[in-house]
Amino acid sequence: MSRLAREDRGPARGGRGAGARGGREERRDDRRRGPRERSAQRPAERARQGDPARDTAYRVLRAVDQDGAYANLELPQELRRARVRGRDAAFATELTYGTLRLQGLYDRVIAQAADRDLSQVDAPVRDLLRLGTHQLLGMRVPDHAAVSSTVALARQHVSQGAGGFVNAVLRRVGERTREEWLGIVLEPITDPVARAAVEHSHPEWVVRALRAALIAHGSTASEADAELPELLRAHNEPGALTLVLRPGLVEPDALEQAGAEPSPVAPTAWTLPAGDPGVLSAVRDGRVAVQDAGSQLLTLALAEAPLEGTDERWLDLCAGPGGKAGLLAALALERGASLRANEVSAHRAELVRNTLTGAIDAGADVTVTVEDGRDVGTQEPGLYDRVLVDAPCTGLGALRRRPESRWRRSPQDLATLGPLQRELLDSALDAVRVGGVVAYATCSPHIAETTLVVEDVRKRRGDVELVDVRALLRDRSGQQVADTGSEGELWAQLWSHRHDTDGMFVALLRRTG
Ligand code: SAM
Repeated sequence: MSRLAREDRGPARGGRGAGARGGREERRDDRRRGPRERSAQRPAERARQGDPARDTAYRVLRAVDQDGAYANLELPQELRRARVRGRDAAFATELTYGTLRLQGLYDRVIAQAADRDLSQVDAPVRDLLRLGTHQLLGMRVPDHAAVSSTVALARQHVSQGAGGFVNAVLRRVGERTREEWLGIVLEPITDPVARAAVEHSHPEWVVRALRAALIAHGSTASEADAELPELLRAHNEPGALTLVLRPGLVEPDALEQAGAEPSPVAPTAWTLPAGDPGVLSAVRDGRVAVQDAGSQLLTLALAEAPLEGTDERWLDLCAGPGGKAGLLAALALERGASLRANEVSAHRAELVRNTLTGAIDAGADVTVTVEDGRDVGTQEPGLYDRVLVDAPCTGLGALRRRPESRWRRSPQDLATLGPLQRELLDSALDAVRVGGVVAYATCSPHIAETTLVVEDVRKRRGDVELVDVRALLRDRSGQQVADTGSEGELWAQLWSHRHDTDGMFVALLRRTG
């Protein structure tokens, strides 16, 4: 919904006449959206003070800005608190996520329209302007509804004066289409990467890192430049809701009956086109879970890696909140292996315990431990046959699912994460037996967190070899997943725009002793 052109929109007008015209526009817009997208609350009704959907979006934006909240956790709570459901909940979700994703672009538009630097605008007013701008430039909300409802929020949450300022700025924003604003804000920028960053609303350092990763995995510079906009656009679209059917714990018809469809991306992946997965009993009792298909692919690859000798003890070193541990536990049960799921944070270890109930109830031999993963290698040297290190990382591969995270991260995070990632991989390699395998994974394609970590550790240790993990990534039809790297590359990089997964990286290392 967020990238739809709005050719039929004229400049914002005030007064009663404009309101009457707006009523007809709303009906036309509702027809264009089609029955599934139509809101239970008409836009004009939302425009009145107290519009719960917009109020919810505003509160989530403030929590993200003020308290460092995560929108994907905060929004469901706010929706429940305000009893916003159905199509209004879908409207609030698009408004919240779209505003957060596109705020980099919107801030430039707002600065032009307000004729001032946004640092001079109070944070609550800035959030309101972003919300209004997303409705004007990114959603099919009639101008007068977008402006008046945002002004109402400004009066309610800030002041009368703020309402006047928001009204003036949003009217100016509404005088141009999104394409016209793009022309204006891009006009002074000549560097192609900097232009792509503004146009697709990403921090410039992130775009440069993504371009470097595309090149590191086999694209030429011109191929990377041509592909980059597609990748950035994919980050601005919500990914499909993907479920994992944990093998052996549930039959597929439980998902078919709920309207889920088998995903071609991974053998265990299903997509749920509509509805709340939380209502499925198989999700509540941990036999099915929400999980990106890329995470499933790499977990299956670790389980499928050829091993000589024992295959009895598996370890997930950084397991919280437990998505991959849940799939590993089901696979370990089928294989007759045990799983230790370790996590440094007690709170996140509790989440692991919860998601593992399905496998434990089915008889899986699973232990959840709370330890610093860096110590496990010295505590239990050479004990495990298969180890997963799903390392803490910047998450730059999961931007489509975490709308605010691109603005939270900074290159300094790499400096903190780098040593930790290396120590965790080292510890995993100490914990695995000679001949056993370690999968090192990140939900980031940044080479400082992926290939450079693996190469540093591999070269320094001298007792590990890379195993071809790309050959082990198999889709539902059993075919090798295409375009995960260049000829001869042994590790794999998944991409949202190529594979419809999060941008997961995985390398498989065998301990040679
Ligand atoms: N594998 C998980 C899943 O699929 O749900 C996601 C893992 S997440 C990318 C990284 C996890 O590593 C976080 O839960 C974080 O708390 C944990 N972590 C961070 N430092 C750690 C350490 N020193 N030892 C063990 N776990 C750590």
